[in-house]
Amino acid sequence: MGKTVLVLGAGMVGTCTALHLQQRGADVTLIDRREPGEETSYGNAGLIQREAVEPYAFPRELNFVLRAALGRGAEVHWHARGLRQMAIPLIQYFHHSRPAAHAHATQSYSRLIAYAIEEHAPLMTAAQAEQLVQRDGFRFVFRTPRAFAQAVARAQRLQDQFGVRFTAEDGAALSRSEPSLRQVLAGAVHWRDPWAVQDPGALVQRYAALFAARGGRVLRGDAKTLRANGAGWSIQGEDGSIEAEQVVIALGPWSQQSLRDLGYRYPLFIKRGYHQHYPQAPGLRQPLLDAERGYVLAPMRLGLRLTTGAEFAPIDAPPTPVQLRKTEAMASELLDLGPPRPDPVWVGSRPCTADMLPVIGPAPRHRGLWFNFGHAHQGFTLGPISGRLMAEMMCGETPLVDPSPYLPQRWPG
Ligand SMILES: Cc1cc2nc3c(=O)[nH]c(=O)nc-3n(C[C@H](O)[C@H](O)[C@H](O)COP(=O)(O)OP(=O)(O)OC[C@H]3O[C@@H](n4cnc5c(N)ncnc54)[C@H](O)[C@@H]3O)c2cc1C
Repeated sequence: MGKTVLVLGAGMVGTCTALHLQQRGADVTLIDRREPGEETSYGNAGLIQREAVEPYAFPRELNFVLRAALGRGAEVHWHARGLRQMAIPLIQYFHHSRPAAHAHATQSYSRLIAYAIEEHAPLMTAAQAEQLVQRDGFRFVFRTPRAFAQAVARAQRLQDQFGVRFTAEDGAALSRSEPSLRQVLAGAVHWRDPWAVQDPGALVQRYAALFAARGGRVLRGDAKTLRANGAGWSIQGEDGSIEAEQVVIALGPWSQQSLRDLGYRYPLFIKRGYHQHYPQAPGLRQPLLDAERGYVLAPMRLGLRLTTGAEFAPIDAPPTPVQLRKTEAMASELLDLGPPRPDPVWVGSRPCTADMLPVIGPAPRHRGLWFNFGHAHQGFTLGPISGRLMAEMMCGETPLVDPSPYLPQRWPG
């Protein structure tokens, strides 16, 4: 491997990639147009989802699809322009979500998820970030006995197949675990293995500070200025041109724009999501997913953070926080939320691929160009293991996980 590397994008994925390359002796510059961890990796629910062995499939229940199409419920919202823009990858996503294809994707996805905690843990220790994390799992809560029973059966299957641990709690046990809940619900699946970070952006910043303390450079620059330059690559930074032999695109939901400029057409799309904080809400002991309504409540430094489901809209469309309004009403049935913090609306974009697997590996048609993006609903979880896999491939080491399912050449484009 050439010893100099530019990593474009200082979200969780790019920052972990930079750390792993540096650990292997590369001279790495981490570049972003903002400070590290200020975009998607800032605004998420902060869950390191060891339980998420199945990637998030396109829901195929007719009822769900009809409700989404009619704008009912809160799980999904869409803009006509967003659907038009993403129509082809969304059709492919639907196709890849067939039960057999989804089971196949799960085999590859679960192999990465298996290392989520193991790979975050040493970075957290080295970055002195352990006080940002709670290690008691999180809950899926259910309002109806039928959904609860189905969820327990699914959790049992996943525990048997993938070793992800859970405890089933009936309504009374859930009320004892979370005494602030206003109602007795049908029950909960308490996943025991996940970790919850109470300031996701701060964790990325700690990882970036660790990278800098070990001699890495963190600079401002715009990925749109990336050019092939002789045997290497260059980009315009604030203080002039920055050059290196290798470059990694880790631009999360913005990766597609850079790829287009380089001539790659992959089936990528985004699912936007919103958050809002409630500083006066009573404390939850662990985060929860209101599974039949499709939003998460997670205790954070700024208050209880509510995060929403999927919005299919162009990445740069003005925010339409319809789902925030709907889920706020739903969450108020469970907890006395109090007023939201008067912040500007936060919207982020999950970087998704049609086959639900991230893209990690060398660019098929350019020397010294590498891809690490497309981590969808679990990029905060998967940053460290993806960064490690990327660095192992770039340095010619035997990768910890077989990288073949994630390689970019799985698509012709
Ligand atoms: C509401 C919501 C809740 C979520 N909850 C969770 C969760 O609980 N757990 C989990 O694991 N995942 C969660 N996710 C998903 C997760 O946040 C993402 O998968 C992850 O943050 C993607 O990380 P990334 O580093 O690839 O992208 P990002 O964090 O978006 O980083 C990309 C970086 O590229 C930079 N950039 C963009 N364009 C340019 C340019 N032209 N030049 C230079 N730099 C540029 C940006 O500034 C940004 O810093 C959630 C997502 C949302 C929206």
